[in-house]
Amino acid sequence: QTTETTETVNKAYAQLAELDKKHFMHPTTSFKQQHEQGPKFIFTEGKGIYLKDIRGNTVIDGLSSLWNVNIGHGREELGKAAMEQMKKLAFSSTFATNSHERVIELAEKVANMTPGDLNMTFFTSGGSEANDTAFKTVRYYWQLKGQTQKKKIITRKKSYHGVSMGASSATGLPAFRTFPSLAPDFLYVESSIEALEALIQQEGAETIAAFVSEPVQGSGGVNPPPEGYFKKVRALCDQHDILFIADEVITGFGRTGATFGMEHYDAVPDILVIAKGITSGYAPLGGMVISEKLKNELIDLSDGVYMHGYTYSGHPMCCAVALENLRIIEEENLIENVRKMGAEFQKGFQWLADRHDVIGDTRGIGLLGAVEIMKDPETKTRFDEPVSVKVIEEALKHGLLGRSIIYEGQDTLAFAPPFCINKEEVATIISIIDQSLTTVLKRDC
Ligand code: PMP
Repeated sequence: QTTETTETVNKAYAQLAELDKKHFMHPTTSFKQQHEQGPKFIFTEGKGIYLKDIRGNTVIDGLSSLWNVNIGHGREELGKAAMEQMKKLAFSSTFATNSHERVIELAEKVANMTPGDLNMTFFTSGGSEANDTAFKTVRYYWQLKGQTQKKKIITRKKSYHGVSMGASSATGLPAFRTFPSLAPDFLYVESSIEALEALIQQEGAETIAAFVSEPVQGSGGVNPPPEGYFKKVRALCDQHDILFIADEVITGFGRTGATFGMEHYDAVPDILVIAKGITSGYAPLGGMVISEKLKNELIDLSDGVYMHGYTYSGHPMCCAVALENLRIIEEENLIENVRKMGAEFQKGFQWLADRHDVIGDTRGIGLLGAVEIMKDPETKTRFDEPVSVKVIEEALKHGLLGRSIIYEGQDTLAFAPPFCINKEEVATIISIIDQSLTTVLKRDC
């Protein structure tokens, strides 16, 4: 850039940053930091795995933004699908039996992709709404069956399920539950089958409506389940008449190298929650997929109206975008690429662990990965201040956007790049993490 263009873009940034500080209330942001520093980036463009900001910086979108831009940025086909749908039918209601072409096509598509007899989808605008829908629906189901005390929902510690009233109550990260008077009847359990069994015994299965879990916890630190966990969860749920909800908001539609994360763990839930990857973030859409069995029971048991529905349940444009996104994932064999590049990516983390004594653990599956930093992995001692925050800051200087996770005493670097990534780009990510870790350790530790 010439000095002149640098000046121009800096001015454009400064003007927008002022307005941002003045008028835009950011999600998951410190009020003070936002007020004092304004936005770090004002992004203007995206292409493939890259994002570009108004000052001309290009960065690798190492977390696919919010683990959601799975096919990568800049796919014009999705814009075209959105425009064609909006020109033809921008909106029509799906309440009270009304329907439209795209929502029917998408519901069928999802039924064909999901495992087992998960065949019927309720659509929402995102993951939180989808989880709330699942929680309301399981409690409603037990009420219809006359088992009115069956309303507790068991959720795992370190889980993340969203921020609406029910979803934040279900989130096993206390940092997200700092708002008073959240929803009642959510119980938090350690991630062992023994702990789950003990909790069911203690509370009484007759009071428990459902168990909810991500196949691999995302925001809580990229935590795959213990060996054999979900098979045993499925059996326990069957034994005690507890519905099993899988939150596949991050893992759904290919992130782990399988179409759905639960496929790795041989367990089919009664309800599967989806969002993010269904549209790769090109439009807001989520949903709850229920089993054929649950559907038939609801038909038999209920004679009133299911009084639950969002204005945008099955928005035509969002459904059109989802259909185009799923077509691209299939036709370009992107899940196959997740498996191939995922193997490179996980190998890269292993290489990092071999090079750096402070890496106490590497976790992940497919294009979802994390490294855990410890001062002394032997004794599991942590650094006084989290190092991951500084490593992420340093990586940004080298053009890599990732996430540090420091909840619950963790010190984790998390990455989940778009499915369209190639081998060289994986190597670049690993190399930037390596350099950044080396710099921070030398400088600050
Ligand atoms: N569940 C999981 C597993 C998630 O990762 C998220 C979002 N990070 C949500 C639910 C909430 O989805 P949304 O932000 O679309 O409401």
